[in-house]
Amino acid sequence: MDNSVKVLLVEDEEKMRELIKIVFRKENFVIIEAVDGKQGMNLFRTNSVDIVILDIMLPEIDGWTVCREIRRTSNVPIILLTARGEEFDKLFGFELGADDYLVKPFSPKELMARAKALLRRSEVKVNDAASYFKFGDIVIDRLSREVTINERIISLTNKEYELLYFLGSNPKIVFTREQLLLKVWGYEQYGDPRTVDTHIKKLREKLGEYSSYISTMWGVGYKLEVPK
Ligand code: CA
Repeated sequence: MDNSVKVLLVEDEEKMRELIKIVFRKENFVIIEAVDGKQGMNLFRTNSVDIVILDIMLPEIDGWTVCREIRRTSNVPIILLTARGEEFDKLFGFELGADDYLVKPFSPKELMARAKALLRRSEVKVNDAASYFKFGDIVIDRLSREVTINERIISLTNKEYELLYFLGSNPKIVFTREQLLLKVWGYEQYGDPRTVDTHIKKLREKLGEYSSYISTMWGVGYKLEVPK
C-alpha cells in the first residue's frame, strides 16, 4: 500500500482505536479518528478517505445510519465492526452497502488483511476498450458501474456489482465459493463462503425475472449464463 491510503476509523472505544491505529500506522496508512457517529459523518464529508472502518454501536448516531448516509454519495469500501452478543444482522449490513464485517474480538491483522483486500478490489480499472458489455438482456457498464436490464437501472451494492461483473466477464464458467471469495473479495483466507451465498441471493432478488441467469451447480458453485 502506498502511504497515501486514508482510513476513517469510527469507534467509540479508545482501546480498540489504539489497537487498530498501531497496526495500520505500521503499514503507513493515515488514520482519521472519530469517537461517535456524528463526528464520523462530519469527517467523511470533509475528508477524502479510501476506506471506512465503522463500529455499529456508537454514541450520537449509530453505525447503521452512518453506513447508509455514506452510501448515498460514495462507493468507498466500508467494514463494519460489531461486538459479540450484539444484535447483528449481516444481511442488513450488506443491504445498507457495507462490504464486510468483523465480530469483536478480532485480530487487528485480520482487519488489516480485509482492508487491503477491499482496497485492491476498489482500484478502478478503466483502460480496456469497451466501456460496457452485454450479457443477454443485462448490460453492465464498467465506467459508471451501472447495471441495466431493458433500460431499467438495477441498484446494486459494490460487492453485488463486482460479483455480477466477475461472473459476467467469465460466462459459463463455474466458480466455487472459495474462488469467488478470492476473485471478488480478494480473500486468500479468513473469508466465510456463506458471504458468497448471501450476495448471490441478493443479486438474484434484484435481477428479478432474470435471476435464472445465475445458476447454482450443487456442491460446486455458481456461474452466469443466458438461459436457453
Ligand atoms: Ca461501540
